[in-house]
Amino acid sequence: MMNDEINKIKADNSVASLYEELGVRREVLRFGREIEAGLKERFLAIDETAEYNQLKVIHAMQKNQVSEGCFHYASGYGYNDAGRDTLEEVYASVFHTESALVRPQITCGTHALALALSANLRPGDELLSPVGKPYDTLEEVIGIRPSKGSLAEYGVSYSQVELLPDGTFDYENIKKAVCKKTKMVTIQRSKGYQTRPSFSVGQIGELIRFVKDIRPDIICMVDNCYGEFVEVIEPSDVGADLVVGSLIKNPGGGLAPIGGYIAGRKDLIEACGYRLTSPGLGKEVGASLGVMQSFYQGLFLAPTVTAGALKGAVFAANIYEKLGYPVVPDSSESRHDIIQAVTFGKPEGVIAFCKGIQAAAPVDSYVTPIPWAMPGYDSDVIMAAGAFVQGSSIELSADGPIKPPYAVYFQGGLTWPHARLGILMSLEYLVREGVVVL
Ligand SMILES: *Cc1c(COP(=O)(O)O)cnc(C)c1O
Repeated sequence: MMNDEINKIKADNSVASLYEELGVRREVLRFGREIEAGLKERFLAIDETAEYNQLKVIHAMQKNQVSEGCFHYASGYGYNDAGRDTLEEVYASVFHTESALVRPQITCGTHALALALSANLRPGDELLSPVGKPYDTLEEVIGIRPSKGSLAEYGVSYSQVELLPDGTFDYENIKKAVCKKTKMVTIQRSKGYQTRPSFSVGQIGELIRFVKDIRPDIICMVDNCYGEFVEVIEPSDVGADLVVGSLIKNPGGGLAPIGGYIAGRKDLIEACGYRLTSPGLGKEVGASLGVMQSFYQGLFLAPTVTAGALKGAVFAANIYEKLGYPVVPDSSESRHDIIQAVTFGKPEGVIAFCKGIQAAAPVDSYVTPIPWAMPGYDSDVIMAAGAFVQGSSIELSADGPIKPPYAVYFQGGLTWPHARLGILMSLEYLVREGVVVL
């Protein structure tokens, strides 16, 4: 073949024309490329964190002698389910805790948190949140919103100390809020869908130290959802007695089809086991039903998957900040979770953004997300997700309530190239619908 023929084929197959075929126009790609060129150092730092965490996970797997036998199917009661027991030791090694509970029977993050709380609180005890309002679904777990089976129904009281206006801890009022009844403190690492900043592991460590200085026997639990592997240390490295999260977020690496984990002090994890199954049975039962390979392999991939999601979040923050929209965290802030918020100020922005994320998905890319009245929300909500695992938010996904300030929250992306495509596609839709002019 002639040289120019080869070049023509190359040009036809160039990344730009493939982007175009997918629907991303050249101007959008060019804008994205310019932004990306300025992010080399940020990305290098993210890769360094992933390198460290990858080694940490492999080390934990080697130390606990993960073997092919760990992937065997176990059914029935699940006594001596070696795959399950070894995985829990691996998690304990990764989080540097005495013990862990990692199960497909823990149905989601909320369940894992509810389990950790209800297993370790008794009637007359008080739970304190020193970081303001917890994640929405926990309101019903705790009984902040009256709910069947809440901790409140079982005689567990709750108190809360708001963050200071600048998002830091109100130590003075935290000290006042700790009373004789205070048995447990819950600290949410990620902002979730609030506007406060997310906390670094270092900040969480300071807060735990402060609480333990008041009373060392107070159990400190951290809701670690969306935070795993974002830094090289976890809250359990800075004094948390329990760390809790969901396997369809970071630590499942996109492969776990269900599940939650709790890692921490042996006696507290034992209590969680008794609560999950039954008093007397505890961690001894609960067959792993063939999901072990996905749990192990997902954990193995989790550090790099999290890194991909983080790059996507940083990329989006830089793109939309450059276009003049408020972004949280901003373009240069350090990251403590994988969630990115962009405020568009009008519904069209939120809707176009979500359409773009959906259009970039490997699954269900042909459907158009529309706002609807979801139960539990006080406004219409639009959600974009084309995921292999239903509801998985380590996969690229976005959602936004259709109400002021018209902010969209997005997270995930199993690979950086997919996260990049999703964000470029979101911009493409914003341009298409006339919200953004490049
Ligand atoms: C996602 C999340 C939860 C709840 O997890 P689910 O799996 O959705 O039940 C709790 N806390 C935070 C901070 C979260 O991000």
